[in-house]
Amino acid sequence: MTRYAHLWDASKCVGCAACIIECISGNHPDMMESDNKSWNWVASNIRRIEVEESFRARILLLQCQHCDDPPCVHACPTGASYIDRSNGLVKIDPGKCIGCRYCVVACPYNARWVHPVTGLPEKCMGETCLYIVEKLGGKPICVSVCPAGARDFGDIDDPSSSISQRLRRSRFVRLLEYKGTGPKFFVVVG
Ligand code: SF4
Ligand code: SF4
Ligand code: SF4
Repeated sequence: MTRYAHLWDASKCVGCAACIIECISGNHPDMMESDNKSWNWVASNIRRIEVEESFRARILLLQCQHCDDPPCVHACPTGASYIDRSNGLVKIDPGKCIGCRYCVVACPYNARWVHPVTGLPEKCMGETCLYIVEKLGGKPICVSVCPAGARDFGDIDDPSSSISQRLRRSRFVRLLEYKGTGPKFFVVVG
């Protein structure tokens, strides 16, 4: 089975924000001039979090983890939030969404935000990235624009994929793994 996952290499990221900005222009061009009020942030599907580690400020770039056992999907009363069983991505069907925001509250990563005009939840992956990945067989925007090679995306069930190969030679963590969500966002730490 195909199981798509994201990788973000904290040791390579230079904090340039290219992924954050290009995520907006590619997936939410209508929001280039407006803020994402849910996070008090730009309307990107990637959030930048400052963390302190041994008195040295570091950043964590956070986005939907495409959980194997996603609380957002369990919380959704209409089936609008669902796992695409063909590739493991967690998706939103706007035609089924009633805007109740249960999914936004249920996500332990705070990975969803609410579009100020439609009132519907947004998150990684946006429509453009889905098109690039599913129709063109390419890598998502944040991966292709990263100048430091700090990002990757691909099938972790395929041992020959670039993400599988990187994970084999890296030390990595997964966020809030103890919650049993089965996150498919790998943070490489060395
Ligand atoms: S990170 Fe949040 S929005 Fe994404 S699949 Fe997991 S619970 Fe759902
Ligand atoms: S806001 Fe939409 S996707 Fe989220 S729980 Fe409600 S119906 Fe489901
Ligand atoms: S995969 Fe696409 S939607 Fe998700 S964070 Fe990257 S650029 Fe944004």
